[in-house]
This record gives sequence, structure tokens and C-alpha cells, in this order.
Amino acid sequence: MSDRRVLVNLRGLWTPDPARTWAVDRIPDAALAVVDGHVAWLGRAADLPAAWADAPRVDGGGAWATPGFVDPHTHLLFGGNRTGEFNRRLQGVSYQQLAAEGGGIRETVRATRGASLAELVTAGEARLRAFRERGVVHLEAKTGYGLELATEGRLLAAYAELRRRGWSLDVTLLPAHDLAPEFGGDAEANACAVAEDWLPKLVAGNPGVARFCDVFVETGVFSAAQGRRIFEAGKALGLVPRVHADELSWTGGAELAAELGAASADHLMFCSEAGMAAMAAANVTPVLLPGTTLFLGMHEWAPARRMIEAGCRVALATDFNPGSCPCADPLTILRLGCLQLRLTFEEALTAMTLHAARSLRHADLGHLHPGARAEVLLWDVDDLLELVYWVGEPFRPRYLPETTQT
Ligand SMILES: [Zn+2]
Repeated sequence: MSDRRVLVNLRGLWTPDPARTWAVDRIPDAALAVVDGHVAWLGRAADLPAAWADAPRVDGGGAWATPGFVDPHTHLLFGGNRTGEFNRRLQGVSYQQLAAEGGGIRETVRATRGASLAELVTAGEARLRAFRERGVVHLEAKTGYGLELATEGRLLAAYAELRRRGWSLDVTLLPAHDLAPEFGGDAEANACAVAEDWLPKLVAGNPGVARFCDVFVETGVFSAAQGRRIFEAGKALGLVPRVHADELSWTGGAELAAELGAASADHLMFCSEAGMAAMAAANVTPVLLPGTTLFLGMHEWAPARRMIEAGCRVALATDFNPGSCPCADPLTILRLGCLQLRLTFEEALTAMTLHAARSLRHADLGHLHPGARAEVLLWDVDDLLELVYWVGEPFRPRYLPETTQT
């Protein structure tokens, strides 16, 4: 028998409309009918069809309902943290200087290589719980702190175990997150090893775990040509590209993402106008990460408004990672999206729900129209704009109860 229930007593319901790029529905005194965990009907409670008259009710407690957040860019699994270098960073020591001393990402790579599978899974589950408490119902999670075959494989195995435990996540292979210390700065040889050796072995050893692949295309790391070589190898293995692009300088990352038919190009603080047009034409989602701009103390915010004007479906993400954005809080990103990227509230929330889900190719997440997974957040506020307006408030959503009280 199917499980039917109706969520009632809502102050209102807010959802993007998946049929129109930036349109949203804002329904006062709403109800939401759910069958077997999927949305079947939404509208005003007074308009609920008669077929639902005898279905069990779930009391929304006068809350506002929204779709759950989708986070399309995280580096969920890593060992250790980087509090040790934090004060030096504040005193003006650059990210590049710390890396030259063997700190920065090198420190995280050492800690990750030293972490067991069980330690990675335990840390990952605690972080996923923190994301979920803050309203994130699905996220993308990258490997990339191994920079060698064995550790990248262990990260994939940890993600597979987290999925077995029921966590909703997509995995991206990122063994080209930085130059591996073993290659002594030879990016060409490093890119060749990733493309010819590591990717095929990682996919064969962990079938069905990774959906996407990623490369840090940046000055002093991997060139666009080296990135292209790795992405083509990934595509041949069935992995869809997502590109760390134009983060610290312009490297043609957005253009490369469009050329490859990538699902997303991420960061983009130094994206060109041609790159924006190319992403719009190729349906590449720009995934903007304003928490990283904040945490690195940079002043170049990604040109979100110009991207929207160019026709792009902009998404927002946390970039959760130990070096440049140790933030697992979607409300912080929503606030930065409004206050620094100058998105309207509706645009920022759409960027963290519908467009984020689309960049991960999930049509049933990021909205509450019929067919969507009923991943509903209930917010105890009078007006949803309070989530951004009360800028320091740690709002936490409620979720639909697992069982229906009749
Ligand atoms: Zn990242």
C-alpha cells in the first residue's frame, strides 16, 4: 500500500518552478500532498483536491516550507585541519608561501594519507550530520587530498561506505587537485599519470562510485591543455567533467568547461565575458563559492549578476574544505550570495536548490513540484527573508517526521 499524507498548517510554501529558469512559487496558507516520499500536489490548503480528503495529515506547525538545500561543491573527506596556520595567514603570510614551506594543502595531504578508512568514514558521517542539521539534503563530495593512487582509492571506498549508510551524495574524482609532491613540480608528468594510470584504476577498482571528475585548472597547477587531457580520459570512463576554473586568475577554465560539455565550472572569480557566454550556450552551470572569497580575504567576488544577464543558471555552494572554506553552513552562503554577489533572495535560494540540483543532473531535487523527492525543510519564521535578514541567527530547519501522526 502506498504511503499518502498531506502536510498542512503551513504559513506558506516557497519553491522554484523547474519549468522556468528563475521563476518561483510563493504560496500562502499552503498544503503539500506526498505519496511514497514524493510530492504529488502543492497549492493552497483550501484548494486541496477531494481525493486527498481522507489522507493522514502532518502538522507543519505554522512554518514556511522550502525544498532542502543541495550543495554542489564540497571536499567532504580530509584528515586533520589547518587551525595551526590560521594566525600566520591573518598576519599576511600567503597561501602560496605556506605551500612553499610544506604547509597548506601539503599538510592536509599528509594527514589524509595517514587516515584509515574507518577514520575517514567517521569524520565524514559527523560532517554529513552537520550539513543535514543545517538543511542540506544532498551534496557533491570530492576526493583530492590523496594525490596518490592508494589514498584516492581509500577516499572513494569511504564515500561508497557513506552511501551504503544511506547518505545522499554524488562523488567526484579529483586526483588532480594539486601537483603531487612525488612529481617534483612536473605538471605534465603528473597530468599524464592521472589520465593514463590513476583514473582507469580508480574507476575499475570502485565501480559505480564516482559520477564526475574534476581538475584544478590554475596558473602554477594544471594548464587548460593538461586539464583537457585528464577530462577526456575521465569522459572515456563515463565521468562527467566539473572544473575548478578561473579561481585565482583567468586560465580559460570556463571556456574549457563549455568545450567539454561539463556539468559545471566552479569558482570563476576571474571568469571572462566570453567564458560566461560560452557557459550559457553550452548549458554549463557556474557554481559560485563566495565563502571561499570571504575566507581567503579576497576582494574579487564572482560576477554573478553578469552571469545571470549572460543567460547562465548560477548555483551556489559551500566549497567545504580545510584550507580555503571550512564552512558547512548553507545559510552563510545564502547570505553572502545576497550581500556580496548581489543576488536577490529568490535568486540566491534558487541557486542553492534548483540550479544546484540541476548541476548534479537531479531533476527530482531542489524544488517541490510533483515528482520531486519530498525533502521539505520547515522554517519557524514569519517571513522567509528573515533567514538572510537576521544575519547572525543560527536558524535550523525541521524535517517532515518519518511516520505520520493521524
Ligand atoms: Zn573546491
